[in-house]
Amino acid sequence: MSRSRRKVPVRLARRVRQQACNRCGYCLSSETLIGAAMEIEHLIPHALGGQTIEENLWLSCRRCNEFKGAQTHALDPETAEHFALFDPRQQIWDKHFRWSEDGASVIGIASTGRATVVALRLNHPVIVTTRRLWVSVGWWPPGE
Ligand SMILES: [Zn+2]
Repeated sequence: MSRSRRKVPVRLARRVRQQACNRCGYCLSSETLIGAAMEIEHLIPHALGGQTIEENLWLSCRRCNEFKGAQTHALDPETAEHFALFDPRQQIWDKHFRWSEDGASVIGIASTGRATVVALRLNHPVIVTTRRLWVSVGWWPPGE
């Protein structure tokens, strides 16, 4: 999403932050770990007419939000078909993703998960390196 998206009213933003437990709905990183404010993202992108209403908002780190951009669907590398991206408001993370054995990479369990991993580059080398550091000090993967 571009920087120019409409401002989210403060009280609404606070409510969304609480609902999202202050972490990114996609990669599960928290503000405390990444040292940067999470962004309020539009599940249906603004560019596609998504509104700034509670039902269409969730929390995302800047990395995931920027890689998501105006996408709503992406290619599942296994089936070569397009699937809707994971919806952190409606869907349960654990049903679509799991952590790799070493805890540093996100693995998509089925089509939606796999398509989202690729589209949002959830295993970009930079964040995987960072997660390895978090794992080494016991901060990762996130519990519950
Ligand atoms: Zn993220």
